[in-house]
Amino acid sequence: MHKVSKLDRKYVWHPFTQMRDWMGQEPVLIERGKGSVLTDVNGKKYLDGNASIWTNLHGHNNFRINNAIAKQLAKVAHSSALGLANEPASVLAEKLVKAAGPPLKKVFYSDDGSTALEVALKMSYEHNRRINRSKKPRFLSLMRSYHGDTIGAASLGQIDLFRRPYSGLLFKADKAFSPYCYRCPFNKAKPERRDARLGRKCKWECISKLENKIKSHKYAALVVEPRVQGAAGMIMHPSGWLKRASNVVKVAGAQLIADEVMTGFGRTGFTFACHKEKVIPDFLCLAKGLTGGYLPMAATLTSQDVFDSFLGEYKEMKTFFHGHSYSGNQLGASAALASLGLLNNRRGRLRRKKLEKLLSVELESLWPFARVGDVRQEGLVAGVELVADWKTRESFPLKAKIGIKVCEVMARKGVLTRPIGNVVPLLPPYCTTDAQLRKMVRVLRESIMEVLGSTKV
Ligand code: PMP
Repeated sequence: MHKVSKLDRKYVWHPFTQMRDWMGQEPVLIERGKGSVLTDVNGKKYLDGNASIWTNLHGHNNFRINNAIAKQLAKVAHSSALGLANEPASVLAEKLVKAAGPPLKKVFYSDDGSTALEVALKMSYEHNRRINRSKKPRFLSLMRSYHGDTIGAASLGQIDLFRRPYSGLLFKADKAFSPYCYRCPFNKAKPERRDARLGRKCKWECISKLENKIKSHKYAALVVEPRVQGAAGMIMHPSGWLKRASNVVKVAGAQLIADEVMTGFGRTGFTFACHKEKVIPDFLCLAKGLTGGYLPMAATLTSQDVFDSFLGEYKEMKTFFHGHSYSGNQLGASAALASLGLLNNRRGRLRRKKLEKLLSVELESLWPFARVGDVRQEGLVAGVELVADWKTRESFPLKAKIGIKVCEVMARKGVLTRPIGNVVPLLPPYCTTDAQLRKMVRVLRESIMEVLGSTKV
């Protein structure tokens, strides 16, 4: 066993990992990366099929981002944002505000997706109290939603598996119905092709349910992952749902918190998924791709209104009492500025469009397989849901570890991704070449066949 593997096994506790299984196998030890390729200590190359847990945008070892970090490093790595300002964080804030659009005017920096949500949650809570909307504001979040693992963010999440162990610690966020067209309980809207021929019509029952729920209480805010619920299994909302949901929230006088930790920075085709439906949230939470997938940094954007409710004389103690040691870190902000530059250039945008098209063409090849229930895509996010029976849509039990097995075979064949239950996600970095993208899908197809057989429908 490699000496680093020994150290890992002896000392490191990995996230979301059954460590007994982990310790029974030799880990993939990544040594370097270039573009969409990660190379391990033995020289074996892997395609980074989930962009290193949905963070990487422009590839690893990107010359421009490397340079931006190196240039900043020669000046200073970090000075606190508590009492001090710095150039990269200030310039980045202006760019983020411009990219997000009105009424988002202020940027609060933190460290990761979870803290970006904690910040929005606390700001919204206190804002709602200060405008006298509610003495004890309550929040609404979507079925199957995931917003991070810190206590506040986990309280907003609605995935039972992640909530149950900590239920005694979490506060209650009410659950709102959210669409999952493939398993729509109204059994009418099946946009995916196997039912399209039935021509059944959707009546937006999911929105009526949300509307009824939001009317039942004076909620402070609804939290949404716009257009794609990532950790739920890359569940894509039908087009028009987000706009309708945002209207329902506005009519109710509540706030909208958009968690674009995964969907932000071009993943769904637009800079932010909200823009796709011209939705204006009160809070926009960003992390993961903010630094191009280089460094941990997050931002919570909000409106002047929210900002103003924290203004006052010092002695009034209206200050937003929240902060992190590394808020506004210069290296992270420099990486983010370079990443934004790459994101917004015309060549990059055209390339992403082309890649999205190619991904959809390649994914077609999965439909004939009987164990493939649903193939979903939104921009450069894809989710392939594996099922025991495509006709009944019966799921494999989690204990069967089907997703895990398929991803293990994929890794052996040189493509890395991480399953979400029975769903295999593909989120290629934007610099992925056509040949690499074809390989990602081919390996996924072959791995499904190896684990589940090649029976066709
Ligand atoms: N929100 C969403 C939508 C996410 O997908 C994630 C992470 N997968 C988070 C929040 C939490 O981010 P982090 O892991 O950086 O805390």
